[in-house]
Amino acid sequence: MTPFSAEPPYALTAVAAPETGRLAGTREVDMLLVGGGYGGLLTAIELAEAGARVAVIEARDIGAGGSGRNHGQCIPVFRYLDPAILPKKGVDLLAEAGARVFDRIARHDLRCEAIQKGTLSAAYNDRTLAATLAAQAKYAVYGKTDRYLDADEVAALTGANAFRGGWVHRDGGHVNPLGYARELARLALSLGIEIFTDSPMTGFSRDGGRWCVRTPEGEIRAKAVGLTTDAYSTAAIPGAVTQGFFPLTSYAIASRPLTAEERASVMPSGMNFGDTHHDPMFFRIDASGRIVTGGLQEPGRGSRFDYTAGFMTRRLARIWPVLAGLDWEFMWTGTVSMALDQTPSIQKLDDGLWALSGWSGRGVPTSAALSFAFARTLENPAAGLDWWPQRQPPKVVAGALLGRMVQLCRGPFNQLRDRIEG
Ligand SMILES: Cc1cc2nc3c(=O)[nH]c(=O)nc-3n(C[C@H](O)[C@H](O)[C@H](O)COP(=O)(O)OP(=O)(O)OC[C@H]3O[C@@H](n4cnc5c(N)ncnc54)[C@H](O)[C@@H]3O)c2cc1C
Repeated sequence: MTPFSAEPPYALTAVAAPETGRLAGTREVDMLLVGGGYGGLLTAIELAEAGARVAVIEARDIGAGGSGRNHGQCIPVFRYLDPAILPKKGVDLLAEAGARVFDRIARHDLRCEAIQKGTLSAAYNDRTLAATLAAQAKYAVYGKTDRYLDADEVAALTGANAFRGGWVHRDGGHVNPLGYARELARLALSLGIEIFTDSPMTGFSRDGGRWCVRTPEGEIRAKAVGLTTDAYSTAAIPGAVTQGFFPLTSYAIASRPLTAEERASVMPSGMNFGDTHHDPMFFRIDASGRIVTGGLQEPGRGSRFDYTAGFMTRRLARIWPVLAGLDWEFMWTGTVSMALDQTPSIQKLDDGLWALSGWSGRGVPTSAALSFAFARTLENPAAGLDWWPQRQPPKVVAGALLGRMVQLCRGPFNQLRDRIEG
């Protein structure tokens, strides 16, 4: 087997994590976030910017969950960007999710290898032109795309003649995911937020008008608590939260840095790339010139390195022949939460006890919008409803089994659909 690293390359170039330590003794704050990924850190930042005293506790390190392991793509395209699902303010908030990511990065000079050149969705056949036309029309309403692109324009952006048309969401881009999480932690600390790492919540109770959250060596009392542990929730997180989604294993694979010749030929526009196959091909080229791609883990793809590497090279080289000799150096996995309706939830567990989970992918842009809505909900639940619905997500029964079935069947099923439809 070819040697490869089973951890992402992100730590090689990310800024160091800011110094944090374990919670010891007793603390009192207004708001406590449990979980140090994008959800917890961004909600804490939104609350502190509004004047609250805030703390975050994280079971391991900053970005130890999906936030430090994802593909790093900001693709601000959402099935639930829909006035029938969200209130007006929520629609407007979500439509700006991608802009919120990169605006904050620029405003606070977060050093996370951010590149915002847009996200291209390319139609590979006539049948899927209709879907991309509809998506372009939907995002044109929000001013996020100028017009539909013809085959020649897509060829100029991609460096390939394989596509019939496409559209660009201009707020898309990518980051070093771990670097982004660490820089959010640095920003949080600069706002006076206390962050405790290696401090898992082990239990909680109500004490008068406050919640008392325990860790192995300390406790924090807070008026309101937000659980933002999502797919990485430990056993101490209530079942009412973890039954709102089922876990799926996603894999990522990163190539060696492309040569100058390869870079000039492959996505010269520097955009994120995605196509319209049921079994989609998508990737970004990171700041070091590596192609980062992946998908849901299957028995072959994402499980066996040589098989996955060979498949990826062949698939890319069919479109970009210059990549025929591409080698891969990293392949890793992580867990994503999948809600039955693929829609994240702000969920009330009790007075002053809330959860934000079930991202169903797209956590990079989604967290930039939902953290704002979640912060408003923690401050004042009635006002929070102006921004986002509060609901019990549809309950998942036998989530581990369901996840296993999806991992086994979804890929082959989508590949078959692509073969039948041509
Ligand atoms: C391989 C992969 C690729 C992905 N690619 C993309 C992508 O390209 N673009 C995109 O937008 N999204 C992507 N995602 C999804 C995205 O990473 C997640 O939606 C997002 O990171 C979720 O953020 P979060 O803060 O809710 O959870 P997490 O980042 O998972 O953070 C939860 C944290 O809670 C902590 N925790 C758990 N239990 C406790 C406890 N009891 N006490 C204290 N802390 C606790 C965990 O240690 C963890 O650090 C991908 C995910 C994976 C796994």
